[in-house]
Amino acid sequence: MGKQKSKTHIHIYGPVPSRRLGFSLGVDIIPYKTCSLDCIYCQLGSTAEKSVERKAYFDKGDLLFQTKQVVNSGRRIDYITFSGSGEPTLNILIGELIREIKKFTSIPVAVLTNSTMLTKPDVRAALSQADLVVPSLDAVTQAVFEEINRPHESLKISEIIGGIIAFRKEFSGQIWLEIMIVKGINDSEDHVKRLRQAVGKIQPEKVQLNTVVRPPAQDFAVPLSQDELENICHIMGSRCEIVADFKKIHLEAVDIHLEEVILEMIRRRPVTSFDIANSMGRHIDEVMKSILRLLDEQKIRESRHENKVYYETV
Ligand code: SF4
Repeated sequence: MGKQKSKTHIHIYGPVPSRRLGFSLGVDIIPYKTCSLDCIYCQLGSTAEKSVERKAYFDKGDLLFQTKQVVNSGRRIDYITFSGSGEPTLNILIGELIREIKKFTSIPVAVLTNSTMLTKPDVRAALSQADLVVPSLDAVTQAVFEEINRPHESLKISEIIGGIIAFRKEFSGQIWLEIMIVKGINDSEDHVKRLRQAVGKIQPEKVQLNTVVRPPAQDFAVPLSQDELENICHIMGSRCEIVADFKKIHLEAVDIHLEEVILEMIRRRPVTSFDIANSMGRHIDEVMKSILRLLDEQKIRESRHENKVYYETV
């Protein structure tokens, strides 16, 4: 192409080892915290402005250029994964991007989505080109949906479940339905049974149960214990597995150098994970892995001011 690309925004992170996807190359196609939801458990903090507007947030050429560079580096990549710091289906280019990526690599493409846009036929058609889609579903009633996911006012959970069911019929790849369970919010026996009924209609290949193991946007988003999650998994049936990492951290995934630099920053002043990611040009997911390990080792601690989580020295 020979054309100079400005790469002020880093869209690619990894490949990072992930339990579910092996070595996953993350492609982030959405500005930070641009989302149709404001989940109480979101590790990125509160959504400043909820949006259901689909548009081309970034230059397609930049996104493909950056993806191709890493793919061509020869590093091990098991999945190219659309995920990251917001809801990827709000980027109207997602279908074109998947199609273009598939022209230069046979590495399978995964999309992690909050499911809200699956009500739209064009979004379902776009995601049908992927190999694996991981949609989230935490609620089956509008009341629980509003409590846990704090959606954009236009969103109705009944329509979203209808969208996931429609997608299942149209999509021949794998669907791993992720359910985040928060104590006292969506874990009642009645609600879990209703979730199971929805799962029966959706027919995903897997149901992946998670709970709040990372610092959430809201203090009241409390995790279940492993035993409690196992009980729910049992109710969900044989396709269910627990993906919550109760140890919180994968040692092999941690970049020691990154950890030292983060510690240095935190020593100077309290910072948010986003401050760190921004100033280092690293993806938030990479930064969070190191932060969780530093918290685990009690080298840093969390504090909260005006709905934001800060990290400071102990
Ligand atoms: S958890 Fe995902 S869907 Fe929920 S607010 Fe955060 S980015 Fe959006």
